[in-house]
Amino acid sequence: MADHLTAALHRLPTPRCAYLYDTTALRTRTAQLRAALPANTTLLYAVKANGHPDVVHTLAQTCDGLEVASGGELALALQAGARRIAFGGPAKTDTELAAAVHAGALLNVESPHELRRLAALGLHGDICLRINRATTPLTGSHTMTGTPTPFGIDEHQLPDVLATLPTGLRVIGFHLHGVSNNLDGPAHATFLTDAITWSQQTASAHHIDLRVVNAGGGLGIDYHTDRSIDLTPLSTVTVPDGLELILEPGRYLTADAGWYAAEVLDLKTTHGRTFAVLRGGTHHFRLPAAWGYSHPFTVIPIDDWPHPYPRPEIHNTHIDAVGELCTPRDVLARGQHVTHLRAGDILLFARAGAYGWDISHHDFLRHDPPTFITL
Ligand SMILES: *Cc1c(COP(=O)(O)O)cnc(C)c1O
Repeated sequence: MADHLTAALHRLPTPRCAYLYDTTALRTRTAQLRAALPANTTLLYAVKANGHPDVVHTLAQTCDGLEVASGGELALALQAGARRIAFGGPAKTDTELAAAVHAGALLNVESPHELRRLAALGLHGDICLRINRATTPLTGSHTMTGTPTPFGIDEHQLPDVLATLPTGLRVIGFHLHGVSNNLDGPAHATFLTDAITWSQQTASAHHIDLRVVNAGGGLGIDYHTDRSIDLTPLSTVTVPDGLELILEPGRYLTADAGWYAAEVLDLKTTHGRTFAVLRGGTHHFRLPAAWGYSHPFTVIPIDDWPHPYPRPEIHNTHIDAVGELCTPRDVLARGQHVTHLRAGDILLFARAGAYGWDISHHDFLRHDPPTFITL
């Protein structure tokens, strides 16, 4: 455990509950990813993974720009001084379309109706089309292409869409984000090469001057171990000169730069199962409940016990780490072994920097929010 992290945990007000984000870890992670990417690749950060202003500000500096999918994220990106912005999402409002164009963002247009709305708003310029390809060569947690989804234009409809493209709009590329949390490095490299080949063939068939291939995000991490997708195969991808390959990962850049910490308020055994009841839970960190897995934790011992009554403690026990919500679904981990755990100790959940706080239902039961600390 890094000393600065432990020190920050000890300084927290009690009962302790916090998200900790480490900007040095964000910088290191970005540098590792950049080193693995082929030439002519542009790295954007997908803000939806973690919209904390310090995280967004750091990644706006270390990446080439940001990928956003709402007016709120666009505002964050502008505040963070992003050099490049890509704007996507299947449900853009007129206000968002106008704001994105005025901010100089590259739009990923997701339907023929959206094209007509852009034209009617008098918005002109270069755009990318998001395509739901006929097939996907990838597996991962959320498949968005090669299958019915609200994302992008069905590949089969592309000829019609291009034939009726409103004047003033020029297609310069395709957006092909297809999957989340892919752990297979060689498969991701194949996906990138295939995205480039498909885009080149489609562009030449429709007389498009192809400049951009956006292959989205989806670089995965394995929550059960400390493993991430192997990036080495990505360097074998060739991006032809004159073409820009855009990658816009979220999870890969932020997951390991965030921790969720929650103090054990109570320990109890009912019907043979032992529960550590936390000051915190899935209203702060919903990912394990949303995906139905146990998120590993480490115990941070807190030796202080200023109370006159005995301190609950357990030895060599499998526990469920549960939250403060009045629902049996408020579970962060099931059946994890602890050698020693006391009320007042902290459970520390690593890899909580992506899709943690940002996807959680904060107001359910109206408990206090966690403390947010940027290291
Ligand atoms: C969510 C999303 C990303 C980021 O996905 P990760 O799995 O976090 O890398 C990138 N692009 C688009 C269009 C997205 O919707």
